[in-house]
Amino acid sequence: MPDIDVVVVGGGILGLASAYYIKSLHRELSVTVIERGRDVGQGNTAKSVGGYRQGIFTSYVNRVLAETTIQHLREAEASGETSLNMREVGYLILLDENRLKNVKTVVETFLKEGKAVLLSPETLSKTLHMRTDFTGDEEAMLMGLSNIKAGLFAPRCGFLDVEKVVNLYKKRCIEAGVELILGKRVEKLLLEPENPLGIPREPRAWQKVRVAGVVVDGEVIRAGKVVVATGSWTPQLLDPLGVDCFVKAKKRQLFVVSAEGELHKLLTNTWDGGRPMPMMFFPNGLYIVPRISDKAFWVSLTDEFGRGFGLDDEPEPSYYIDNVYPPLVKYYPQFLNARASSMWAGTYSMNYLDGNPLIFRFLNCLVVTGASGSGVMKSDAIGRIAEAALFGKEYAILHGGVKFEVSRLGVENRRVDKEYFIL
Ligand SMILES: Cc1cc2nc3c(=O)[nH]c(=O)nc-3n(C[C@H](O)[C@H](O)[C@H](O)COP(=O)(O)OP(=O)(O)OC[C@H]3O[C@@H](n4cnc5c(N)ncnc54)[C@H](O)[C@@H]3O)c2cc1C
Repeated sequence: MPDIDVVVVGGGILGLASAYYIKSLHRELSVTVIERGRDVGQGNTAKSVGGYRQGIFTSYVNRVLAETTIQHLREAEASGETSLNMREVGYLILLDENRLKNVKTVVETFLKEGKAVLLSPETLSKTLHMRTDFTGDEEAMLMGLSNIKAGLFAPRCGFLDVEKVVNLYKKRCIEAGVELILGKRVEKLLLEPENPLGIPREPRAWQKVRVAGVVVDGEVIRAGKVVVATGSWTPQLLDPLGVDCFVKAKKRQLFVVSAEGELHKLLTNTWDGGRPMPMMFFPNGLYIVPRISDKAFWVSLTDEFGRGFGLDDEPEPSYYIDNVYPPLVKYYPQFLNARASSMWAGTYSMNYLDGNPLIFRFLNCLVVTGASGSGVMKSDAIGRIAEAALFGKEYAILHGGVKFEVSRLGVENRRVDKEYFIL
């Protein structure tokens, strides 16, 4: 007999959302989340910017996962269940000639559908005080910066308070009767024969096996089903079993720059009849998040080649100085001499094939990982799909009654259509 019907390993946003939908749709089952941190949501979820994107995905899967989740969160706010501080500041995607050429057709579709508008370089410099012309600037050329030809502004995007989303699902879990075990690390998943024979060295290769439970502090917690939602750490639990989860940990860093003087003016600048400064994504991986309530900008730069895989989450002050600051001050000279007052780093559980989550079963186990850089904005949908996948359903019903074929995010029959608009 299992001690617990469903054990969810990992109390990040995906483990919590999964546990909540499993418990709320199967009230008769006991569901326990085991999290090694002192509280839930302290892993990579806590490192997130909380950015959300609506209206500017080309892939059906991205659109459905993110937009049903965001709509769900909006309605949770509107109903008074929670306050997530959703700030619809919009995403502004800066396009140089190259980027514009690559996404031209997609941009035209967004414009036609009224999901975004195109801003001219003149508007960008006049209203958002950005530098768009690097003609004759040798340093900018050395850095590979080219003139900004346009800015695509999508008004329905923004950012929210991630810890409030965590608290929402934590509260829902507790109210639904999910047990949370905190400060306990699952050392391994226990593989056992389905029908033990009591012979040495079981399970033998010819025996049918199941994941009988998890090992914590040397003790076995027996479970009917196990959900592995350990984000970037998932290979630690699955590699020993010979199960590939197709994700690698990639470090991502954020730097906080206090907004004083000229920078404060920029932070509190309004445009287009009173809009606050948008989140800005530049062609070379640099992005800027204006945080008026923190009197600061959060800045980051996504690096790929040369950034090895690994679970290291130590922020590197030199990364700001060497890599982030030089292009930042070119686009926004207001950042001249601005240093990072604080910083942190986390890891994406990165699925390099299509950047979308992996939700697949093996034996009596479900794996929920690979949300890459967009797990928070897709969390509600992922939780619902996890429940459906765990119980062998063909479809998950997402927020608003949207039917989603579970196998799309699996391994064997995976069908994630290409995203043409990658930031
Ligand atoms: C710098 C940064 C910025 C980001 N910005 C955004 C953004 O703007 N928008 C967005 O949508 N997403 C963003 N993301 C991505 C988002 O944070 C992730 O996709 C999401 O948090 C993944 O959730 P998770 O539950 O899979 O992982 P996690 O939150 O990492 O949860 C996994 C949990 O498992 C626990 N765990 C691991 N191993 C064990 C074990 N053996 N036993 C028990 N517990 C264990 C960990 O402690 C952790 O709490 C960002 C990520 C980073 C790093």
